[in-house]
Amino acid sequence: MRTYLVRINLDIKGKKPADTLRFKVAVGVIKSLSKKNNKVVILTHRGRPNGAEKRLSTKPLASMLSKALGKKVIFLPDIDSAKERISKKGGGVIFLLENLRFFPGEIKNSLSFAKKLAELGDVYINNDFATSHRKSASSIAITRFIPSNRGEILASETRELNKIIKSRKRPVVLIVGGAKIRDKGGVIKKFIRDADSILLGGGVANTFMKARGVDIKKSLYEPIMLKKIRHLSKNKKITTPTDNVFEKGAILDIGPKTINEYKKVIKEAGTIIWAGPMGVFEKKKFAKGSTAIARAVLNNKKASTVIGGAETVSSLPIKVDKQKMGNIFFSTGGGAMLHFLSGRKLPALEALKKAKK
Ligand code: ADP
Ligand code: MG
Repeated sequence: MRTYLVRINLDIKGKKPADTLRFKVAVGVIKSLSKKNNKVVILTHRGRPNGAEKRLSTKPLASMLSKALGKKVIFLPDIDSAKERISKKGGGVIFLLENLRFFPGEIKNSLSFAKKLAELGDVYINNDFATSHRKSASSIAITRFIPSNRGEILASETRELNKIIKSRKRPVVLIVGGAKIRDKGGVIKKFIRDADSILLGGGVANTFMKARGVDIKKSLYEPIMLKKIRHLSKNKKITTPTDNVFEKGAILDIGPKTINEYKKVIKEAGTIIWAGPMGVFEKKKFAKGSTAIARAVLNNKKASTVIGGAETVSSLPIKVDKQKMGNIFFSTGGGAMLHFLSGRKLPALEALKKAKK
């Protein structure tokens, strides 16, 4: 009997966490680790709290996980009493620690905090692909204090993404949208050579349109990125919307003409990489673009396809309950997926390579 400390991603927005891919992936990981009477201590975070913000506690996740696992999940509200509470219980018990980001040491990648975390178990396993591009105590510093391994999710994510990088079944189509614009410049730059078409939507498209001299009025864009992409924006492989849906002077979705143009390109694609929705899909009237693009991507059964980003995946008009479905791989990471696809190393993986075994 061992106590596994497992870093997983349960950073889920929206009302039904248990329906999301991240949740289902996490449940699979916990199930397999808790076999053979092992104890499992779940390490995870929610959002970007400013101190201990109650609304971002992981406590509600304990009952959701418990329901999905058919087993009690014990919530650990603080780290100092955690060790004793874990050791008191018998084998097969599952624990969930409070939001890691409530502890100031987490995002500072603090050694002393990592040491405290490490004392909670015998073996550490990282299965959190979505934060693997960041440096935090629960993914980097912790590997100095406890035998540490790469979990099956980290392994399969990087394997599938490597396949896509090497696939080059042409035409290669990259679709980029969403609101986190800074994360996305690198991948566009990287794929400018390898992709045949780059289709843009969301705030990313707005920033490129602005660079191309289009009046985007009050639309979301990234001023810092504007200068950096001036040269890139001249490239003809990069397609920005020819029509948009506005509300109060802001672009909130791609228009019908753009949808048709993008659909044609997607239909012919041999490789598809998609990150970031085309519009503010949370509102039904601005979901048309994302839904139409999703249908086109899902209908192309001959392409090798990767779709990533928590919101991108949850905006799809289908239920996604496993990572590999037909010709499509659904990544649990958005920023991390793009980071890896841009050819950069993932700090969490590098730390595991150097970790004591
Ligand atoms: P992902 O989670 O898939 O990685 P992001 O986090 O980058 O994607 O972006 C998702 C968010 O982008 C959604 O909340 C969506 O409402 C927002 N969004 C998309 N298009 C626009 C737009 N034109 N203006 C403002 N927000 C947008
Ligand atoms: Mg997001």
